[in-house]
Amino acid sequence: MAIQDQFASPDYYLLDELLTSEHLLIRKTIRDFVKKEISPIIEEVCQSCIFPKNLIPKLGELGCFGPFIPNKYGGAELDQISYGLIMQELERGDSGIRSTASVQSSLVMFPIFNYGTNEQKTKYLHKLSTGEMMGCFGLTEPNHGSNPGGMESRFIDKGDYFLLNGSKLWISNSPFADIAVVWAKNENNRIQGLIVETNMDGVSTPETHNKWSLRGSVTGEIIFDNVKVPKNNLLIGKDGLGAPLGCLDSARYGIAWGAIGAAMDCYDTALRYSKERNQFGKPIASFQLQQKKLAEMITDITKAQFLTWRLGVLKNENKATSAQISMAKRNNVDMALRIARESRQVLGAMGITGEYPIMRHMMNLESVITYEGTHDIHLLITGHDITGISAFK
Ligand SMILES: Cc1cc2nc3c(=O)[nH]c(=O)nc-3n(C[C@H](O)[C@H](O)[C@H](O)COP(=O)(O)OP(=O)(O)OC[C@H]3O[C@@H](n4cnc5c(N)ncnc54)[C@H](O)[C@@H]3O)c2cc1C
Repeated sequence: MAIQDQFASPDYYLLDELLTSEHLLIRKTIRDFVKKEISPIIEEVCQSCIFPKNLIPKLGELGCFGPFIPNKYGGAELDQISYGLIMQELERGDSGIRSTASVQSSLVMFPIFNYGTNEQKTKYLHKLSTGEMMGCFGLTEPNHGSNPGGMESRFIDKGDYFLLNGSKLWISNSPFADIAVVWAKNENNRIQGLIVETNMDGVSTPETHNKWSLRGSVTGEIIFDNVKVPKNNLLIGKDGLGAPLGCLDSARYGIAWGAIGAAMDCYDTALRYSKERNQFGKPIASFQLQQKKLAEMITDITKAQFLTWRLGVLKNENKATSAQISMAKRNNVDMALRIARESRQVLGAMGITGEYPIMRHMMNLESVITYEGTHDIHLLITGHDITGISAFK
């Protein structure tokens, strides 16, 4: 069922005046792409749980993979607000499609660019930017989610190679990824990153089935059974938990923008529906209770837009802290989920159908509020930042 995408972006406080003409052009390009290539197929994609791989080269061509990576390595060399706007527009289409671009950009290209050797950058980044090669990021394990520092995956130095054993769970894109950036402990208990090619002997990546959320994104495991990883696949630029957390900062920043996209789509749908749907002889938009819902939604979206734009400015100036990024990720995903729930109610029974995007966004956001640090953990990060006392470890 092809659905006509009538999305019109809310800009209540004229935030567009703070964006450059390049930002506006990038946003329009991705918005047009979403309307043309994603909206018509996304309902069927999510109902069937079959990832639309034909979008990968198109996403690459549009610069959605590693937009902040220098041209020299195949990136579009864009600023952080541009990256955010790309994530916003993709997630307006679907959180699963945005997740694929986020993982490729922030969790695969980012660590290779920032922690990798010149040889690794040359070997992988160009192909990752076009989508010729896809990557995934293995941090979470069956027994270690919010506490990745407890990870059990290990590698030992065997002279000619590293021998890697362990497993990762809940890994976006792992079933079709060509490479995985894997975080494991060395013999000194220090966390390091390894680039593991998924066709290496001993690597398997079974898919996780029966998800009710992010059905437009493939999720799986990565199992390492005596995998011989070449020594020059080690990411030597940074070690310790700070190395994967640096990648998560970049991804969480993109999620903060992405969640605004999902929220805007829900609000826009509910606003239009409320003006068209008549009950008691009047549009439901004329009832105070429905206006309250819509007015609160646009207020929350506007606040999130400003928080996130300012975060982008700070990020461009290299001044954004991890705690500031946590606050924006937590606030915006929570805001988007509340708006999805309220919007669904505005549509009454129609809100549960795939004729409208709201229920799909709502289900997706249940993953987004958990991955890349849960809602609770981000709150505790803010608590730690303002008190100086950690309440979670
Ligand atoms: C669809 C999807 C895709 C994902 N993709 C990836 C990926 O590509 N790569 C990757 O590495 N991971 C990925 N993840 C994993 C995700 O990052 C983890 O699920 C997340 O970090 C939470 O870990 P957990 O699920 O083990 O929950 P747990 O850590 O077991 O937490 C369970 C609950 O306990 C709470 N909790 C935990 N510790 C504390 C504490 N100290 N104080 C208070 N409350 C606490 C949490 O907030 C949560 O509510 C993905 C997850 C999903 C759902």
